[in-house]
Amino acid sequence: MPSYEAVIGLEVHVQARTESKMFCSCPNKYGAEPNTLVCPVCMGYPGVLPKPNMEAIRKIVTTGLLCNCEIQKKSKFDRKSYFYPDSPKNYQLTQYDMPFCLGGYVHISGKGFSGAELPDMDIHLTRIHMEEDVGKLTHFGTHSGVDYNRAGVPLMEIVSEPDMHTPDEAYAYLTALKQIIQYADISDCDMEKGQMRADVNVSIREKGSTSFGAKVELKNLNSFRAVHRSLAYEIKRQILAVENGEKIEQETRGWNDDLGESYVMRGKENAHDYRYFPEPDMLPVIFTDEDIENFKKGLPELPSAKRERFVRDFNVTEYDAQVLTQEKACADYFEEVTKSCADPKIAANWIIVELPGKLAEAGKDFADCPVKAADLAELVNLIHKGTINGKIAKTVFAEMFESGKTPAKIVEEKGLVQVSDESAILAFVEQAIANNPTQVQQYKEGNPKVLQFLIGQVMKLSKGKANPQSVAKLLAEKLS
Ligand code: ADP
Ligand code: ZN
Ligand code: MG
Repeated sequence: MPSYEAVIGLEVHVQARTESKMFCSCPNKYGAEPNTLVCPVCMGYPGVLPKPNMEAIRKIVTTGLLCNCEIQKKSKFDRKSYFYPDSPKNYQLTQYDMPFCLGGYVHISGKGFSGAELPDMDIHLTRIHMEEDVGKLTHFGTHSGVDYNRAGVPLMEIVSEPDMHTPDEAYAYLTALKQIIQYADISDCDMEKGQMRADVNVSIREKGSTSFGAKVELKNLNSFRAVHRSLAYEIKRQILAVENGEKIEQETRGWNDDLGESYVMRGKENAHDYRYFPEPDMLPVIFTDEDIENFKKGLPELPSAKRERFVRDFNVTEYDAQVLTQEKACADYFEEVTKSCADPKIAANWIIVELPGKLAEAGKDFADCPVKAADLAELVNLIHKGTINGKIAKTVFAEMFESGKTPAKIVEEKGLVQVSDESAILAFVEQAIANNPTQVQQYKEGNPKVLQFLIGQVMKLSKGKANPQSVAKLLAEKLS
């Protein structure tokens, strides 16, 4: 029995976040009343003239540069003809043979969805082109509605080469792509809002073969998890079919996430002939070398560069830097904290450990974190100066998260200033020794473990405010 390997290529659509649509001045906005953000241009009325959105073009070129693509000096728009209610004009503006970006690659590493460690590899891109999004159909019992607010929104299509072989690799590729795009502020990539969508192509072949099998295209995958699950399912289905002597036909299948199954949408015989032709109402877009140089100058810092800088400038570990840069909003938050904070390493610990837990509980993320970066910096400074200890800091932090008050205010209101005055601590130490003769006896008989218990008793008597280092020192002195 031969063994099989899967071949996977992805077509990813990402909406560019812009003020206005791709070829008209209607707002590019999600969630408005249906059909309120439309005009004669995006509705394709006769005689209107489309005009390309330069900010959207800057964003696709930025994406291309960050994905190591060759930016084309001459590109153009084409009409893709088809008749379907999601397009009011019977064609979609897209790019056929002269897209903005050709070639390129996205580096993947780390862990896949299953948690398995992936080899470092580059996923090559075929192209990135610009098109306009189409309207959104909603199906009710006996009829359907169409909302054209989305029609004309700038939509980048990122086409990969069939370079991936496992669902984990596809998952890691999508994760890396999303991270780049979010970092560069191109899109929020919110899949629930349709800002990022993936079509997945998959075929199988005998291991060692270099030819390609007939591919199946999976559509309607609305989460990275669905991409992973549907690929795992589809690979298994194709292998079983071939082992049963069936032949895989090229077809388009949908994914039912509830049932965990793919189903046939259309076969090859229903493939479209789109009759592409150049859009006659727009000139080709021409870039000079200088234009491309200027695009390069405007590139943002990517996660890998940020990680190196965090390790170098803020003295955090590789691991810390990795976690801090996972999300741009988190990296930005950390950087804001470091501006007024005496100890970036302590700050990093709070941002990695304490804060995400609280955010998750509250269903918030870094972008709407209720603790201001300057306030977290102040909390870190209070710990650094020894005004409060780490345990009290947790209480203060919880209160900051709840009420939005500054740490200084909370410490003052609740009288939480750490007691470092040795005579005050000594009084607590003596009391703890008097209260716990049995444990003191055990300690003196050579059981060092009870020291921790006695320290705890002193801390309790001080209501958590004693400086733990002084407590340990004074207690050891008293008992020796
Ligand atoms: P189509 O003409 O059907 O759009 P393309 O050749 O443009 O097909 O490829 C579309 C996507 O499918 C690309 O991401 C590509 O990598 C992927 N792809 C192409 N051939 C295969 C194959 N045999 N198996 C898996 N993926 C493939
Ligand atoms: Zn419009
Ligand atoms: Mg294609």
